[in-house]
Amino acid sequence: MARGYMKAVNSQTKHFVGVVSEGQELNADKRINLNSFLLSRAESTAPHVDEAYAGGWSDQLGNHTVAVIALDSKGVLTDNRTANDGVGNLAPSSLGELLAHELIGHNVGYSINGGKNHVSSIQVTNIYRRSIGNTQWRSGQGHLGNKDKLDKAKANGVPWWLEDEN
Ligand SMILES: [Zn+2]
Repeated sequence: MARGYMKAVNSQTKHFVGVVSEGQELNADKRINLNSFLLSRAESTAPHVDEAYAGGWSDQLGNHTVAVIALDSKGVLTDNRTANDGVGNLAPSSLGELLAHELIGHNVGYSINGGKNHVSSIQVTNIYRRSIGNTQWRSGQGHLGNKDKLDKAKANGVPWWLEDEN
């Protein structure tokens, strides 16, 4: 996790992060040129980010990325699995988990690896969960429209760009 945040801070890519609470409009934050990311006004409040994206949204464009995180997310993930690979609960994601997934998994992943980083972002969520002692893991089923779940070993792996030598 620490290596991911180090890469975010030291990246040549600018990683913007917005945190929105219920009723707050992200457009108030002028550091983020939302037009560049085609993020409409309707998408910029916590209920929308929750409803459409289960609490976190990110996009990448050239040398910039943006992540929008809902404060006190109520959005639920449907791909939570128990330690024994059973169906997990529907607890909303914490702020820390959402930030790790969107900023490190999707956006730092993009700056190093290109693309949307479906597998890496799920892996980063699961690394975050292990770091706080949460034994439930995400399978990635339904994430970015992917129909199949990742097997447990893959979902709980480490992206190559977060390993020691990279
Ligand atoms: Zn994602």
